[in-house]
Amino acid sequence: MRKNELKIYLASPRGFCAGVDRAIEIVKKSIDKFGPPVYVRHEIVHNKHVVESLKKIGAIFVEEISEIKDKSRPVIFSAHGVPKKVPKEAEELNMKYVDATCPLVSKVHREAENMYKSGYHIILIGHKGHPEVIGTMGQIPENGITLIETIEDVEKIIFKKYEKLAFITQTTLSVDDTKEIIECLKKRFPKINEPKKEDICYATTNRQAAVKKIAKLCDMFFVIGSRNSSNSKKVS
Ligand code: SF4
Repeated sequence: MRKNELKIYLASPRGFCAGVDRAIEIVKKSIDKFGPPVYVRHEIVHNKHVVESLKKIGAIFVEEISEIKDKSRPVIFSAHGVPKKVPKEAEELNMKYVDATCPLVSKVHREAENMYKSGYHIILIGHKGHPEVIGTMGQIPENGITLIETIEDVEKIIFKKYEKLAFITQTTLSVDDTKEIIECLKKRFPKINEPKKEDICYATTNRQAAVKKIAKLCDMFFVIGSRNSSNSKKVS
């Protein structure tokens, strides 16, 4: 490399995952089908530019269904998933809704529901307040699921000896941090049930691996993303 020459590495894969592409398409197609405006509950994906461009073609973003002024218009649920009470609320109000939850998040929802029905208490590893976590926790009754965020939390949780435990995770966590939390969980609760297949999705895993691969070659690393995106934060 010549002196002062700047070498730029691009991580691969990078950019939007299939779940994000799908959710954006759902909003665009819904606007085509129903005409504007179409309401979207929460940012469809955590990306400011996407949200702004969808606003321009007729999407109105709200945080709760109660904020929707014209209930005759359809509402779309974001890729992060929603608690069960949300579609129920839309149904009770006779609203049309379209669910853009990523299928990989829905997979975790069904996992939680099935394990709960089989008598397990669910431990969810995730970030408090993240919409995906709120959505996953809202799939089963409140007393059936416990959220933990750190190794310290593993030490703090108390369960009865005979209680059947199972864990699931948010789809967009740090692979390395989560591995450590899971190891601690298994050490403390050797009989804990785990998901058949990892809950952290392939897109998250691949992007973190791609960053790790080139990070050691770089003096400076730029992540282009949103501050409220779990995925952007986890590769930073
Ligand atoms: S679960 Fe994975 S694939 Fe689905 S939207 Fe989230 S990051 Fe993308």
